[in-house]
Amino acid sequence: MTLQTLTDEQHAFVEAIRDFARRECGTREQRDALTEHGREPHNQQLYERIAELGWLGVAIPEAYGGSGGGAVELCLLCEEFPRGLIPMGFFPISMMTARPVERFASEELKQEILGGIVRGNVEAIAMSEPEAGSDVGNLSCRADRVDGGYVLNGQKTWITGAHVASHILVVCRTKRTDDKHEGLSMISIPRGTDGVEVRGIETMGGREVNDVFLTDCYVPAERLVGEQDRAWTQLMAGLNNERLIIAAQALGMAERALDDVLAYVKERKQFGRPIGSFQALRHRLADLATEVEATRLLVYGVAAKVDTDPRAMLPREASMAKLKATELAKKATLEGMQMMGGYGYAVEYDMERQVRVALVTTIYGGTSEIQREIIAKALGL
Ligand SMILES: Cc1cc2nc3c(=O)[nH]c(=O)nc-3n(C[C@H](O)[C@H](O)[C@H](O)COP(=O)(O)OP(=O)(O)OC[C@H]3O[C@@H](n4cnc5c(N)ncnc54)[C@H](O)[C@@H]3O)c2cc1C
Repeated sequence: MTLQTLTDEQHAFVEAIRDFARRECGTREQRDALTEHGREPHNQQLYERIAELGWLGVAIPEAYGGSGGGAVELCLLCEEFPRGLIPMGFFPISMMTARPVERFASEELKQEILGGIVRGNVEAIAMSEPEAGSDVGNLSCRADRVDGGYVLNGQKTWITGAHVASHILVVCRTKRTDDKHEGLSMISIPRGTDGVEVRGIETMGGREVNDVFLTDCYVPAERLVGEQDRAWTQLMAGLNNERLIIAAQALGMAERALDDVLAYVKERKQFGRPIGSFQALRHRLADLATEVEATRLLVYGVAAKVDTDPRAMLPREASMAKLKATELAKKATLEGMQMMGGYGYAVEYDMERQVRVALVTTIYGGTSEIQREIIAKALGL
């Protein structure tokens, strides 16, 4: 899907986000002020202003205050935030958390969590543990059934936005059988619950991820999302959504890197001519632009398929979109840095920040190696 094939409404939506980005985040001074010089990937004040514009609910059903759009609208927003360098770092993870809630949670939890996202709340989802990364089914955080609820004990790690989230959707073990994928459950823990400790992890991307320690943490039974012991199936049902969100985000990063490096190579002169006129750079930029266009078609092709049949799992297509877009974000930003020479490496320019943010996209939400495994399996290998 190109800009030309969007509906008038979708087109206007994109133009409005781009206009907002130019006004609010158009200069380096504005971006530095909003992100504490790149240390904060998310600005909550700006987020709440965006919520007031109604954009955060673009893919939340109308019953919960959203505008009821689908995967294409969600991708447009996830793509335009990084393309406009708008520091909305915790929107994608909030929408990844929203999907299982929308599909499986009780009406009360839907009102609370989905309605909260529309109003500007951040939501976190906690699957990973120190011994359960790519092998997430190996998780051991425990929830024991007690009178009226559950008591949780264990450690979660790498949890995006947990330090500011209104709730953490914890995937935990409620039963142990020979099949590690059986006996998992999803429980929503509200902010401020006793027995939850959140500790930040320093990364190249700034203040984004956390360890979460759960110690005798009591949660009422009504906070179970979906069915007890069925979380694996519930997680699998949302994977296409998660991969598509990350793919759209990575696509936006790649586009921004390409836009920025194009502007740079047209300006910067060496040997008496713009460096963009050297064939060594021109051809690589032509290749990059081609890859961006192809990736855009792939990402929006998968989004359109999801909209046609929201219940389809699409493991092959969603993994291809995630793999291609994130590897491209990495390549485009590293190429951007290389073509900007020393200035690409300098903190004064945005590109080094863009490199740091792009590098991790091939790791979270399932690494590139894991996406290739899924695609290979779909090929019958
Ligand atoms: C910035 C960031 C944000 C994150 N946010 C969240 C979050 O909000 N919630 C959450 O639950 N988790 C989150 N994660 C965790 C993330 O999903 C995991 O880091 C990821 O799944 C990889 O797990 P791991 O880091 O333990 O690496 P490992 O699983 O230990 O993998 C290490 C290496 O081995 C490779 N590998 C492992 N198994 C295989 C295999 N079978 N075949 C081939 N290669 C293999 C991997 O590809 C990788 O290269 C986040 C991580 C980061 C870095």
